[in-house]
Amino acid sequence: MRYRGRFAPSPTGELHAGSLLAAFGSWLLARHHDGAWLVRIEDLDPPREVPGAAQRQLQALAAFGLHSDEAVIRQSDRHGLYQAALDRLLDAGLAFACHCSRSDLAASGGIHRHCVAAAPRPGHGAPQPAIRLRVADGAAVDFVDTILGPQHQDVAREVGDFVLRRADGYWAYQLAVVVDDADQGITEVVRGADLLDSTARQILLQRALGLATPDYAHLPLLLDANGRKLSKSDAAHPLDPADPLPALRAAWQALGQDPHTLDEVATVTQLLAAARVSFSPAQIPQTVSGLAAMHNDPC
Ligand code: GLU
Repeated sequence: MRYRGRFAPSPTGELHAGSLLAAFGSWLLARHHDGAWLVRIEDLDPPREVPGAAQRQLQALAAFGLHSDEAVIRQSDRHGLYQAALDRLLDAGLAFACHCSRSDLAASGGIHRHCVAAAPRPGHGAPQPAIRLRVADGAAVDFVDTILGPQHQDVAREVGDFVLRRADGYWAYQLAVVVDDADQGITEVVRGADLLDSTARQILLQRALGLATPDYAHLPLLLDANGRKLSKSDAAHPLDPADPLPALRAAWQALGQDPHTLDEVATVTQLLAAARVSFSPAQIPQTVSGLAAMHNDPC
């Protein structure tokens, strides 16, 4: 089967050094396997969306030479697919409507095992219920991450019944990402390690929907000076698409690759060509790379 990878940003801010690492890392792995690399805009959460961010993210990717091999898809165009998947789960009794509020769940540490608010409460709270996946007692997932090695999560105990459609009517990331990765035939999901914790949920959902499970590779996260993950909503570390080489060089180094490979390159095209030839997936580090690595002096 031909390798198919993807980069799936949410348009909640500008592309930053951490997202470039995920974009470049997933692109390099796809090219290394002679595969396709797709871009998907995960615009399912309008309240968190920044106007124009999706377009600017795509423009920034283009400035870094990273172009989707197929038409870019947007999750906001795909509600029908998510609804069909949800209907299948509801029909099979694998998903259920839940009227519990956050305060209802507070006593269980926010982990949903049994509905404590069994019936809708007219005039209170959400107008419609959330829909959750029914996670069986003892449901645990084991998988081998391509970079991080063997992983285990007891989803019933650590996460509980998780949300597929939110009480505000928006689709949950977990459902949409599983439907889209399957629909796009993704063979390896490469993304930041902040999403490692979601992977067992996504595998359970794939099993419930009868979908294949792709391979997973979680890249090291970049931290800011305070040891916090860089995020798109954090305006502190913007990338400069007008000057792409320093950020690509820094991302290359943060991916554990030999910086001297890129010493002679003068353009983005040359950099990507040289990177593609000498990329070694085995060198990708498991541990967090310091932001310092992303701020090496431009040559
Ligand atoms: N849309 C998610 C984000 O921007 C990434 C989802 C994924 O790669 O699975 O954090």
